[in-house]
Amino acid sequence: MTQPQREFAVQLPIGMTDDQGVTHRGAVIRKMRGHEEALLYDRDLGPSELASHLVAGTLVRLGELEGPSPEVVAGMYSADRNYLLLEVRRITLGDRLTGSYVCPSCDGEVRTSQDLGDLSFRSLGEVEDPEAIEVELEDGYTDREGNLHRSVTLRLPRGEDEAFVSSMIERDPLKAADALVLRCIRRFGTIPRSELESYGVRILRDLTLGDRLRIQRALTDDAPGARLRRELQCGACGAQFQRLLDVSDFFVPC
Ligand SMILES: [Zn+2]
Repeated sequence: MTQPQREFAVQLPIGMTDDQGVTHRGAVIRKMRGHEEALLYDRDLGPSELASHLVAGTLVRLGELEGPSPEVVAGMYSADRNYLLLEVRRITLGDRLTGSYVCPSCDGEVRTSQDLGDLSFRSLGEVEDPEAIEVELEDGYTDREGNLHRSVTLRLPRGEDEAFVSSMIERDPLKAADALVLRCIRRFGTIPRSELESYGVRILRDLTLGDRLRIQRALTDDAPGARLRRELQCGACGAQFQRLLDVSDFFVPC
């Protein structure tokens, strides 16, 4: 009798760079087991910690690293963590994901069925640096001295950034999103780092919506990783809206 396949090789969209500067993108994953299912019921784990433990429990190997710990996984880019969760979902429960959303216009229920095998994703390009994503703002930020700053350098978020903001998500989702972006700003025009920190999320609130979207897009839609944004249409009223697929819904059996 042939043994069922236990281990699956995948390529990470970004990869993890070790102390020697070598980037590892090859990973081996296995199906989720009861150990990981139990994590779903652990109320002490916040969403980012849960993701770290789920990935660590199913990641057999990352490059040359055998069985990386949840702490190592917390240091991985969010795009890689989400990609691994997506692939673990596919090998464990299959490609079909049903979802339920509330229509923003009529409050009706919009049920969806998604084939996870159809999701497109993008890998990091050869000349791209996940630690230096350049964004040019249209309106920019004018500081107290009247200088206009329009060039922003971002780094892509990691699990530990998600963990840092996770306590704010339920109370104030916008503040949590801004705090995450702020952590990812490495340079904002010529504003010194210390000043940037004293401004805090206020600097992001002062930006125009268009500029905020430019930054947001650089970290999500334009960044490497799986495209999790879905276009939905309400069957009752015809309203169209967008939602991001939530990786935490991947493991709810349907
Ligand atoms: Zn509707």
